[in-house]
Amino acid sequence: MKKKYLLTPGPVEAPRRVLEAASRPLISHRCGEFSELFKGISRKLGRLFESGQPVVILPSSGTGALECAAVNFLRPGDVFISLSCGVFGDRFREIAARTGARGIYVDAEPGSAPTPEAAAAALRENPGARALLVTHNETSTGVTVPVREIIAALPAEGRPLVLADGVSSVGAIECLPESWGVDVLCTASQKGLITPPGLGLVWLSKRALDELKGRECPSYYFDLKLHLKNMKPDSYANPYTPPVSLYYALDAALDIILAEGAPAWFAKRRRYAEAFAAALEELGYELLVRDRRLRSAGVTAFSAPGDASEVVRKRLSAAGYETAGGQGTLKGKLIRAAHYSDWEMPDMEDILRAFAEAIDNNSDDGYLKTARNIFENR
Ligand code: PLP
Repeated sequence: MKKKYLLTPGPVEAPRRVLEAASRPLISHRCGEFSELFKGISRKLGRLFESGQPVVILPSSGTGALECAAVNFLRPGDVFISLSCGVFGDRFREIAARTGARGIYVDAEPGSAPTPEAAAAALRENPGARALLVTHNETSTGVTVPVREIIAALPAEGRPLVLADGVSSVGAIECLPESWGVDVLCTASQKGLITPPGLGLVWLSKRALDELKGRECPSYYFDLKLHLKNMKPDSYANPYTPPVSLYYALDAALDIILAEGAPAWFAKRRRYAEAFAAALEELGYELLVRDRRLRSAGVTAFSAPGDASEVVRKRLSAAGYETAGGQGTLKGKLIRAAHYSDWEMPDMEDILRAFAEAIDNNSDDGYLKTARNIFENR
């Protein structure tokens, strides 16, 4: 039978080794073996983030991780600055606003990114802001936001806590929270971390840990202090029953990502994205993100010729290639195809041929040569 491809930007196709790890016999989450598994994952996440700071693991999706950041660090009356260029930036601000904090909204057009200058200007106008919210990879448009440059543009004095959504960047795109100056980094298992959905992860800076002291969290489930109390040097546990099977899966996924070092893994994702985008353009698809420096290595957004994106998506789906569509104002206008999975050139060729067929493009294989040149030679 012909292979089916899951091209949605989460969940993504997880490697067989990861799925097999998830099917290991269950163990008690109170035993030493689980503690070792959890500690091992923490060490591997430390290598990924180049940081020894703790990462709380929640039984939740990415939205839960964002909610956790909001309820632990924002209170009614706080002011937060929210940078958004799409649906997920908007979601993060909506979650934050539900704490009763007041948002200052800085928007960028879909397909572009908030700039360091805009972030710095918003902070100058709101010097007492408690937090700055930013989405590292805006999945609805395939834009990677220059978080590092944005933080570097903020004045060191009176800097707000930086709460970053790395749900669709972590694991696929370099994200170094400690060296960049992020305070709380939220992510989830089902995209760049090539694991099934179900785990939310929250990395915390030293400053974030200090800020937690003396604060009461209105949520029990998402109480970071409660989680951290269970992560003692000699034993790592969770305050309630964690999805043990997903811990096995995440552990195996991290082994794959770190096998040749995270930078090599990120570079491969980048080459794949560039090769895929160049071939799509050659076929006649139009990429949403014009500025190449902002193009995501995890997900590419584009439209089909003749405004036929939805028809093309249906054709692709019928042929076994499941993509995502546009969201929000871009509903019906876009095709989004993810490439977080560890696909090789034969996979890309298979996928690109399907994209050619879906728009009845019977041209020669030039687009495949373009893709191969970029993927294999850069
Ligand atoms: N943030 C970003 C950037 C996302 O891409 C997503 C999901 O696509 C979310 C947050 C929400 O994550 P979840 O669907 O796992 O709750």
